Amino acid sequence: MLLKDKIAVITGAASARGIGKAVARLFAQQGGRIAILDLDEGAAAAAAADIGPGHIGLACNVTARGDCERAAQEVIKRLGHVDILVNNAGITQPLKIMDIGPENYEAVTDVSLRGTLYMSQALIPHMRSRRSGSIVCLSSVSAQRGGGIFGGPHYSAAKAGVLGLARAMARELGPDNIRVNSLTPGLILTDITGGKLTEQMKTEILKGIPLNRLGEAQDVANSCLFLASDLSSYLTGVTLDVNGGMLIH
Ligand code: NAD
Repeated sequence: MLLKDKIAVITGAASARGIGKAVARLFAQQGGRIAILDLDEGAAAAAAADIGPGHIGLACNVTARGDCERAAQEVIKRLGHVDILVNNAGITQPLKIMDIGPENYEAVTDVSLRGTLYMSQALIPHMRSRRSGSIVCLSSVSAQRGGGIFGGPHYSAAKAGVLGLARAMARELGPDNIRVNSLTPGLILTDITGGKLTEQMKTEILKGIPLNRLGEAQDVANSCLFLASDLSSYLTGVTLDVNGGMLIH
């Protein structure tokens, strides 16, 4: 049991086939108690019930600072404290550079980047007061490659922003014994692509993956467990690639 008696907040974890839900399930199997935060309260509560008893689901739009603060306080009230935050909520859009309008830019950067900032800010004072915490941020291989997978340039920019934000938080929060690390998944089979990923796109992408398969949410969850738990006690500010070897260089 790597997370016995640990409390974890996971954003964007209501999506049934998503990375957040897989992380929530694995953390629960490892003894953790989980707060699932997502846009829809019913979906968040159903996802929490699905992973077992004692977990909670709350409505929280991570782009709204007030939502993040309210959710953080509610989790602390109901579960006692928070050890782990997984900044997982994110959306993407497969647009070319000249097709990105202001509303596209705002939608995509707001969820990943502003959301990571606001949710972290909502829990940092609590983690500081306990002199303990582990924050894991979901970036993407798109940040490192400059896209070329599914998301457009605004997605690459948002996820590159997440890497910078996570490293800066790691530097600032290290003295408080709060670790901050990032995951950069390759193409993972979830619903984020909204049915727009064609077989032809998959075949092209597979050519560049030495392990010769697309990723599964469980692959990312396993790596997230490593970064969230004490197994990675001397790691902060790192970027862990979970991409089947797509970025070997
Ligand atoms: P998903 O679409 O299955 O799940 C995303 C979840 O985020 C959904 O439950 C959605 O309701 C929630 N969400 C969206 N906007 C929100 C908001 N404003 N506030 C709170 N919740 C919100 O996606 P996924 O594939 O599981 O992706 C999870 C994370 O991993 C994202 O940050 C994504 O960018 C990142 N990622 C995914 C892949 C991939 O190939 N699937 C690759 C690299 C990185």
